[in-house]
Parts: sequence; structure tokens; C-alpha cells
Amino acid sequence: MLTLLPAFQDNYIYLLESPTGLWIVDPGDAEPVENFLQAQQCTPTAILCTHHHRDHVGGVRRLAERYGVPVYGKGPLIPAQTVAVHAGPLELDGESLQVLEIPGHTLDHVGYLWKNYLFCGDTLFGAGCGRIFEGTPALLYASLQQLAALPDDTQICCAHEYTLANLHFAATIEPHNAAIRHRLEHCTHLRQQGLPTLPSTLAEERASNPFLRCGEPSVIAKARSLGAQGEDTLSVFTCLRSWKDRYQDDSHPYRFTTSSN
Ligand SMILES: [Zn+2]
Repeated sequence: MLTLLPAFQDNYIYLLESPTGLWIVDPGDAEPVENFLQAQQCTPTAILCTHHHRDHVGGVRRLAERYGVPVYGKGPLIPAQTVAVHAGPLELDGESLQVLEIPGHTLDHVGYLWKNYLFCGDTLFGAGCGRIFEGTPALLYASLQQLAALPDDTQICCAHEYTLANLHFAATIEPHNAAIRHRLEHCTHLRQQGLPTLPSTLAEERASNPFLRCGEPSVIAKARSLGAQGEDTLSVFTCLRSWKDRYQDDSHPYRFTTSSN
């Protein structure tokens, strides 16, 4: 069973109950996790970290100490880390996971795939992708391509509720894309009811996420009009990502210094 715990302004902390364990993904804050575990009377077995940003790891040390569980992550910036992960299979509580190295937002960014659940942190968002803080456009694009190669029904468990704002941006890139319009309506309805727009599926992302559609003629044409250096997918991606960095959506005020989006 998958649980999304809202944290801070727009983060989600994921709790995934496997047949043999309970895994916490990206606990930026310990308190909502502790409250949930207490209410449900259950104990976690592991903490999985996608990258070192504070809104993903701020609660790790407190939870690891309180519950005495191992902490998985790549690189030395993950607090209280006990297991350094690398691309490839990972055995956890007797279950088989796959670790994907997906740098670009940060250099230590990884994703965790268990069955069809993908925990991708701040690399791929609903209808968007992470901001480039430590990598290059080429690095992030290669990471997104790696995720885009997963099956259609992959559940995209990303760490922020940015989908609506991203869809408004996507609609400016592809105003005639019906999948974007439908998703915008659907997600608007969900948010009005206070419900999350996540997880999405990879099929939905392929249809409506401009950062996975850099080879589409409509996206190439728009990128050219925005000053893309060429028509190859990396030039298109680089242009869209930099345009998004400067994009201001009046209905979703843009927070330059804090947004991961
Ligand atoms: Zn981040």
C-alpha cells in the first residue's frame, strides 16, 4: 500500500508497505511520518533517499535514530546514511528493487523502482521535471530518457505537488495537445477536492509532459520560436528547461529561490 504524506508547502513523503517491510521515501520532515506511524501502529523498516536536498532528508536522522532503521542513498551528503546505493539491483527486506542513477537536478540523485512504483524525487515531476542545480541539461535529459524507457504503467511517485503549475506551462508549449487539456481539467478537479495529482503513470507523462516530448514536431516548433539552438532533442530540452526557469504563471506565483521545479 502506498501512502502520500504532505509536508511543507508542496512536498510528499511516501510510505510504501511491501509484503515484508515498510519503507519511507524522502522524509524531509520527521513529524508527519511519526504521527502517521503512531496512528497506524506500525514501524518502518528502511528509509530511502533520492537526493540530499533538505526538504527530502531533513527528517532522516531523527527517524533513523528513533526506529533504528537503515538509510539508503547515494553519496556522502545523505544524513545518517548506512547503505550507499548504485545503479542496479537492491535487495531490501527480501524484496528486489532497482536503483536508477538519474543525476541532473543534483549529482547524487537516484530513483528507486519496486514493482511498478518509481520513486523519482525531483527528477521527473507530474508534467514537468526538476530544476538543474548541480548537473547539466545533457545529464538531466539522459536521466529523463532513462525513466521514459520504463513501462507505460509505471507509477510516477515524485516528491512535489507541482502538476497543475506544470500543466499550465505545458499548455503554453503545446496549446493543441488534448492530453494536456484533459489532464489540466482532471488535476484542477483533484486539487479543488484537496486530493493529490500523484502518482501519475508514465503513459500520462509521455502524453502530456513537454520534457518527455522533445522529439514531437509541435514541441520542436515551439522551442525554435523560443530560441532553441537546434532541432535535436537535447537542444529542444535545453531550451524548454531554461524557458521554464524564467516562466511566470500568474495563477501559481513562482518562487525562484526555493522551487525545485
Ligand atoms: Zn531537490
